[in-house]
This record gives sequence, structure tokens and C-alpha cells, in this order.
Amino acid sequence: MAAMSRDGRFAPSPSGPLHLGNLRTALLAWLFARRAGARFRVRVEDLDPGRSRREHEARQLADLRALGLDWDGPVVRQSERRARHREALAQLQAAGRVYPCWCTRAEIRAAASAAHGPLPEGAYPGTCKRLTAAQRAEREASGRRPALRLDAAGERVAFVDRLHGPVAGVVDDLVLWRNDDTPAYNLAVIVDDADQGIGEVVRGDDLLESTPRQLLVARLLGLPAPAYAHVPLVLGPDGRRLAKRHGAVTLADLAAARGWRPADALGWMATSLGLAEPGEPVSPAQLLDRFDPDALPRAATTFAG
Ligand code: GLU
Repeated sequence: MAAMSRDGRFAPSPSGPLHLGNLRTALLAWLFARRAGARFRVRVEDLDPGRSRREHEARQLADLRALGLDWDGPVVRQSERRARHREALAQLQAAGRVYPCWCTRAEIRAAASAAHGPLPEGAYPGTCKRLTAAQRAEREASGRRPALRLDAAGERVAFVDRLHGPVAGVVDDLVLWRNDDTPAYNLAVIVDDADQGIGEVVRGDDLLESTPRQLLVARLLGLPAPAYAHVPLVLGPDGRRLAKRHGAVTLADLAAARGWRPADALGWMATSLGLAEPGEPVSPAQLLDRFDPDALPRAATTFAG
């Protein structure tokens, strides 16, 4: 099914404050949606009970506002959509596409490195799909709660990314429901994007490899597939994805360490995207006039710190 809208979203996980890289992705998602005259939504991806904190959520939303980014409708929390995620799981179960998996991380690593074939590196090789009745009974008797995996049947999914062009991948048997009884990201994200009418997903290109998985889940559920634009990341001086260990990278830390106001952070982001001159004061509305998705840099930017 074709995407019907250009509505966009930013979907942060509230596991810490947003850094310049997350904020730049938010700015880009906002620019894509607003440039198309479409709605822009914020969805809080708070499925991981161990890492999600309401105070991080509040700070993240405050930082988006401080940059001058606005959004439509209420902020949706993924944790409040659990019944819908369960329904999607049940639909896949009814279609015979779900099986329990008791493998530990170490077992998956060992099996994945021994496996050969078309699956990407580190992919789950389907161990628990091939258990004998006795092996299965033994695991069931262990009392350990299994994760639930999609039987992806080795399907290959192709799509065209707005920035990366044609992308294709063989989908492995991804986790749909975690063994701590929470919906897995790859299930929740595509159900929520569809239910919220998101027509174009703009997010960091570290998630490019997850997209075939999400598109397969969408197809099996009969949900519309969004279009995708995977945007370049901001890296630290060591060439790795920007993170807290790189020093002052959040709005609060940049204010304390460098005296940056939110507008200075916005200026840095705009400059890094070729939308402003260094030091030039800019507003989101001005950036909207200058923004051309096709002229976006394709390479990551380094934040020197
Ligand atoms: N919640 C994910 C993250 O913060 C992003 C998910 C997405 O944009 O699809 O990394």
C-alpha cells in the first residue's frame, strides 16, 4: 500500500537527554514534514521499562520547544499502546508466523557466527524454530520466559530510501515480544507509525538496517508502509556516534560549558546542514524557507566538542 500522507514524527527514547545528534534529527524530521505542509508528531518510545524515565521525557520535550520546534496533537507514549501492540502480535500468531525463543544473547552470538547464508551479520539464525519436541519441552519446563520471534521465512524486503536510494535486506527472525513481556521496538514502531498516519519517517541512518524488518511486519499485518529518509548522524571526534562520553553535547551541558543558548545550538545544526553561515542567527521558520531535502548532505558531521 502506498503512503498516503507526508506526516512526519520524531520518536525519541526517553533514556537520557537528547544530544546535538538527536536534536538535529528532530530538526530534520520537522523540516521534512513542515516543508511538505504536513503534520509533525512526537512519540515517546518508552517501551524499555529499565531505561525510560519521565524526567528524561520532560527534558526532551522542553529541549525541542527551546529550539522552536512545534508538533501537532498530543505526545503519544508507546507504553500506553500496549493493547494495540498485543493485538498486532495476536494477528501474527493467528497467521502462524510467531514462535517462542529461549536463546540467551551469548547463544545467539555463538550461533550467528557459526551460521552461513544470506542473513546479515549477527542475525538470529532460527535456532528455536528447529527444536525437536523434546528440546522444546525441556525449555518450556525450565520456567524461563521466552521471547516471541517472527518467522520471517527468509524473506527479502526492498525499498527506496529518499537519501540512500534502493535498499534491500533479508529479514531475520526478529523479536516481536521481549522476554520481559514488553513489545519489541520493531513491532511497536511500525504499528504506531501506521496508526498515527505517518507517511514519511525521517530518522538517523543507524536505523537503515532495521527498516526491511519493519516493512515485513507492516506487510504481514496489512498496514500501510511509510516512506523513509534516513539522515546522516552527528559523530564525536573519535568518529563514533555522538554520545554523552564525548563531553558537552546536550543543550544543558552546552549552556553550562560554552554559554550556548538554544539558538546557538540551532545555528550549529543549521550550519552543519548547509542551511546557514557559521554564527548566523536563524529561526526554524527561516530554515524552512531554505530547506531542500535533495540538497541535504549525505555524510555524517563531526562535532568537535
Ligand atoms: N526510538 C528510537 C531511538 O530513539 C527511534 C525510532 C525511530 O525513529 O524509528 O533511537
